Amino acid sequence: MTASAVAVNADPGDTAGSSGSAGCVSDARSDAPSDDVERLRLEVLRSFGVLDTPAETEFDELCELAAEITGAAAARVNLVDADRVWAFSMCGPGDRTLAREVSVCRHVVEQADTLVVADLAADPRFADLPIVAGDPHYRFYAGVPLQPDGCTVLGSLCVADFVPRTLTSAQLRQLERIARQVSAQLRRRRLALDLAAEVAARRAAEASRDAHRRLLDGVLDNSDSMIYAKDLSGRFLFANRALERLVRAGGPAAGRPVAGRSETELFPATADAYHRHDIEVAAGGQAQTFREEVQTPAGPRRYQSHKFPLVDEHGRVWAVAGVSTDVTELENERRRHAEAEQRWLQLFERSPVGVALIDEDGRWLAVNPAFCALVARGEDELVGRSAVDVLHPEDRPHARRLPERIRASADGVVRTHRRVVRPGGEVRWVETTVNHLPGPDGTSHTLAHCQDVTERVEAERARQQTEADLDAVARVTRQIQSGADARQSIVDAVGQLAHADVVSLLEPAGGDLRVTTTTAGDLRHQTVSPTDDSVAHLVACTAVEQFLPDLAGATGVPAELHRRIGGGSMYVLPIRTATHGPASVLVAGWTRPVADLDDRRAAVVRLLADQAAVALRQAALLAELETLASTDPLTALANRRRWDQELGTLFGQARRSGAPLTVALLDLDHFKRFNDTRGHAAGDRHLAAFAAAARAAVRGDDLVARWGGEEFAVALPNCPAQHGEAVLERIRATVPHGQTCSIGYATWDGTESADELIGRADRALYAAKGAGRDQVRAA
Ligand code: GH3
Ligand code: MG
Ligand code: MG
Repeated sequence: MTASAVAVNADPGDTAGSSGSAGCVSDARSDAPSDDVERLRLEVLRSFGVLDTPAETEFDELCELAAEITGAAAARVNLVDADRVWAFSMCGPGDRTLAREVSVCRHVVEQADTLVVADLAADPRFADLPIVAGDPHYRFYAGVPLQPDGCTVLGSLCVADFVPRTLTSAQLRQLERIARQVSAQLRRRRLALDLAAEVAARRAAEASRDAHRRLLDGVLDNSDSMIYAKDLSGRFLFANRALERLVRAGGPAAGRPVAGRSETELFPATADAYHRHDIEVAAGGQAQTFREEVQTPAGPRRYQSHKFPLVDEHGRVWAVAGVSTDVTELENERRRHAEAEQRWLQLFERSPVGVALIDEDGRWLAVNPAFCALVARGEDELVGRSAVDVLHPEDRPHARRLPERIRASADGVVRTHRRVVRPGGEVRWVETTVNHLPGPDGTSHTLAHCQDVTERVEAERARQQTEADLDAVARVTRQIQSGADARQSIVDAVGQLAHADVVSLLEPAGGDLRVTTTTAGDLRHQTVSPTDDSVAHLVACTAVEQFLPDLAGATGVPAELHRRIGGGSMYVLPIRTATHGPASVLVAGWTRPVADLDDRRAAVVRLLADQAAVALRQAALLAELETLASTDPLTALANRRRWDQELGTLFGQARRSGAPLTVALLDLDHFKRFNDTRGHAAGDRHLAAFAAAARAAVRGDDLVARWGGEEFAVALPNCPAQHGEAVLERIRATVPHGQTCSIGYATWDGTESADELIGRADRALYAAKGAGRDQVRAA
């Protein structure tokens, strides 16, 4: 309800009449009040709080009085609402509520004037209204406006009757007087309501103030801080319990309340300082915070005092209030904390171990000087950067999996060995112990303790390498001892231990050097001739090793080898197996230049070259033995053992190629007689001379062997019978000292065995002997 619309005059005046006063809501005299006017009127009506309330005796009595005075059958105190007319009080027939449209009263409100209708049925405005045309069939109506605020028409006091009639002027005046009484009652009723509401509001405000007061008292009483107010002379006006407690606890003025006493009396040692602060606050007119000390029986305490001016209604500062909190413990704690932090910081800064803290995103948060020295980077180059960046690229994936490993470990600690790459490219081995530390807001940081263990790791690697070297050499030695050919094992071991890409063993063959063993299959059997002017020949002849660090521009490198290791390095060592003649050579090649052949590599290659010398000497001895075992000592021809072996091979070849193979047996004629007449030694010389001549009379691929005694065997591969006979005739002609021989031969028929073939040749020989000797006979 707006106050202006509901202003209720204390006394609306006793002026009789029906018109409203100027400025009232119902002032506009028209049949249809404007929407605004009607809205304000309804606001005023509601402000009276009377609609839909139970009937009240005073109003009922006034109603009955109106009916009685006018002699009407019914009287009502009707209030006209937005769309209804509601009887606050009534006597006589009719409903308490009536639609506004079909009421007569609405005309009183809309006209804001008394309305008297002698015969409703005769008036076209009212004749069809339900209360006229139907029950209770009213014919007469007289209504006076009700204006409790002296102007707004809220409804009417009306009377009605069943017959047409009129009122005397005295009756009308009486009705108007009663209407004013009703208005006055409504006004009083509303004042009483307002008053009750005001009282209730005031009580509520008081209750709220009390609650605030109690809250404030509670805060003041229970606060550990001292809360007080002092006048500008330093006299206490108020002190809370905390301050009272402090003062009563001891000191010269203990025992009496604080209020009314001066700070000089209570705190003689510090009063001057307090007073200076108070004056500063009063002069500045603004709150300020001070550090103050208070002497207590338990010793001095440090206080933080928040002081503010109290101002009167003229804006003048009349007092200073303050809240002082004991911060002694807090400050002590802070100091201890700062000292501890300082200690830890020194530990961190001076630790000989690298210490680093990594955040959840894997970035350096903090690094100490030892760590910076370890990775050879400044703190500013590290903090905020990815932690894995300092690691060797191969170690980075492992480092990224570290948080998982820490979580999975039983004690939350993981030890790692990683390679750090310094800006210059130098690689250092770092042993790191890592664990998780709780960071802010539930995050998890990683703490790493790092130590440079490069020397230790390198020593260990050198030890392992030496062990591997010795193992490999031992393997080669065992192989040599077992009598097996160790050449391949030696070149393989050089490749493995010296990390060489190509290793070859070149042995003298004729005047050349031939690759007999190599780690690169396509180099096998390659030869290097002395005219090549190669380093290999130089080393083979001088027996002085050569190291060529850069082959790019080097000359004298065997062409095939140069193709393989063109831009790299080569190490060529002599392998002496005999006191004279060219040595064998061992060549180790690297495809990338080996700037400096380190001692270990050189030592390993030399050691294996020595082993190769042993292996080659052993191989030579074996070859010699093999020759001895298969050679006839008198004639130096193949003996019967070798004949058997090689004939097997020739049979295999003939079978595969289909080429003819002719075999002959040869027997010196009357050799017994030769012996008998010239002596056995001459017989021996004769045998040797014939063997050399026969050997010289055939091709390299042909086989001449001493079958036994003065008998010989000849095998002619790729030789058909008629050619074979010619060759055998040539041999027959070589018998020295005027002696002769008989020869029987057979050509392999493609199916018979070696024994059968030789058997046929033997029979042919027998036939030759029988036919007079000194002849060649076919089988
Ligand atoms: P034929 O014409 O019938 O073959 O007569 P022959 O004397 O050659 O035959 P015979 O088998 O009777 O004699 C072979 C002789 O060859 C007997 C032996 O003293 C001699 N003889 C065998 N081996 C050697 C040897 O290594 N040195 C010497 N000097 N004589 C040998
Ligand atoms: Mg004989
Ligand atoms: Mg003979």
